[in-house]
Order: sequence, then C-alpha cells, then structure tokens
Amino acid sequence: MLLRLTDRGLWCELADVYIDPWAPVDRAVITHAHADHLRWGHGHYLVTEAGVEVSRQRLGSYASRVESVPYGRVTTINGVQISLHPAGHILGSARLRGEYRGEVWAVSGDYKTDADSTCAPWEPVRCHTFITECTFGLPIYRWPSQQQVFAEINAWWRENADAGRTSMLYGYALGKAQRLLSGLDESIGPILTHGAVETMTALYRQAGVRMPHTTYATVDQREPAWSRAIVVAPPSADGTTWVRRFGKPAAAFASGWMQVRGARRRRGVDRGFTLSDHVDWPQLQSAIAATGAERVWATHGFTGPVVRWLREQGYDADAVETRFEGERDDTAVDEASVEPGS
Ligand SMILES: [Zn+2]
Repeated sequence: MLLRLTDRGLWCELADVYIDPWAPVDRAVITHAHADHLRWGHGHYLVTEAGVEVSRQRLGSYASRVESVPYGRVTTINGVQISLHPAGHILGSARLRGEYRGEVWAVSGDYKTDADSTCAPWEPVRCHTFITECTFGLPIYRWPSQQQVFAEINAWWRENADAGRTSMLYGYALGKAQRLLSGLDESIGPILTHGAVETMTALYRQAGVRMPHTTYATVDQREPAWSRAIVVAPPSADGTTWVRRFGKPAAAFASGWMQVRGARRRRGVDRGFTLSDHVDWPQLQSAIAATGAERVWATHGFTGPVVRWLREQGYDADAVETRFEGERDDTAVDEASVEPGS
C-alpha cells in the first residue's frame, strides 16, 4: 500500500512523508491551513503556492519551515510522484495525488465542488484509491445554490439596516468569512470585520482574490454609521465585549449545519444560513465517481453511512479513523492550534 494510517497520521512510507499529521513529524504535506490539518511541531511543511501566506500566518514562529509548490507540479521522492491539486475548499486548499509504479492514490483533504470565487475550483483527480472526507455524508445534506444564500444574507442585512440594527454575521475566519464577504452587496451599508477576519482577508487580497472594501472595527472606534453595517466575525467572538460594542446586533451564523433544525437555536443566533465549504451528499457522490477509484476510504464525518452506500455501489470501501474534524458548529477548526510553550 502506498499510504497507510499510523498514530501520527496518513503516512507514505516509501517517500517518508505524512499528510496533515496530527503529531510532530519530520516531513509533512499539508492539504490546507485549517487548524485540524495544519498543526505545530513538524520539521518541514509542504503547501501549495496559493496557500503559503495563510499557512505561514497560522504557523507563526514555524513559518520559516514552510515550502510551497504550484498546483499540479510533481515532486518525486524515492520514486513516489507527489502533486497537489485544487480542492475548492479555501484559498490554497489541495487534494494530494501520489503515484508509485502506476498505482495512484488521492487524499481529498476537505473539499467542495460548487461555486466559490475566493479559491481555485475543485479539479477531479483520477486514481485507484481515494481517501475522502465525509463531514456532511448524509442524504439530508443538499446545499442551496450560493447565489440563493447570498441573496438571503443581503435581504436580512438590508432589513436590519432599515430597522437601525447592526448585522453580526459569524463564519470561520479563514475561508468561510472571505466567501461570505465575496457575496455581500456593498450598496446596503459599510462592511466591518473582526481582527481575525481582517488579517486573513488581507492575505486573500494579496493573493489576487477580489474582496469588497472592509473596515477593521477596532476596540476604541465607534461610529453612528454602524447601525447600517454588517460585521463579519468568527464564531469565537460571540458573547465577547467586542460584539457588545455594537449594541444588540441581529446575529446569524453561516454553516452547513444550519440546514438541520435545532442547530440555529443551539447557537443562539437569530438566523442560520446554509453555506458550507464541504461537499454535500450529491457532490460527494459525483466527486467519488469522477475519480474512477475502485477503493475508497472514508474519513471524518458520517463514515458509516458513506461506507454502506459505497459498498452498495460496488466499491471496495472502508472507514479510516483520523483526527480531522471538518466543519463544526463550534469554533474548533477556526482557531490555530496552541503553539508549544505559549
Ligand atoms: Zn478545512
């Protein structure tokens, strides 16, 4: 087998590289910069060129250990050809392709196949064995179109602005926040950001992604125009004094979990918008079919139902236990992991 699961993560023994390892290793290939995939403590990191700045930002003092390759460029280590291909998840996100003597493996990382102007679109990679995430691997998960979700968000914002109430829109600081920003209608009012969102948004702009004009809402500045504003903030800001400075804002959360009844209430927000950076059930099915794989390993999420469905379709399928978390309805993947000693 070209890849196998160890207690440090997915390992390619021949090339001695780990993919998104969760314990310190010498050489790590990283699919994207969310904290459950990009962790502290590795000797060397290989990421995509598009994702290099967001990765360095997340790694802080480990930033100098990060090297990058353009999408599609093959690196050969001990006869194993490794390349990274767009996963459509967030800026710089990749699926890994590994080939040895004609046998091809692909690791999805996190991915989606629907529209998103803030990152390179998902590209199918043909392979014999495909390791796929299953965060939303149940038939109930079917995303509305991005266009429809953006229209709902802008209508909600306009309604709040007309009522003189600030709109507080929560989404992960890396990826989700920028996708939300890309859909906002600037004619409604000013767009403000939390510091964590502003930092990442600046890196998106630097990478050539079109973003609307945003203003970083600092602690000591307060303006009357804020009642017409929408504020984009990470879920971890909820309940902080920073949020309370906006009076009693109308609050909404954007996540795939918002499709399920009860999720919005649990988060204690007024509105939930169904917007995810992961494949829904139909996308998962078509993405797997597009790989042409015979063997599929299902990981993080609803692995049981996905494996059952795959076996019914004639795939050689198994669940593999990793420590990736995908999208959660709390703040987990939004926060960079804690640097050792800090
Ligand atoms: Zn992710």
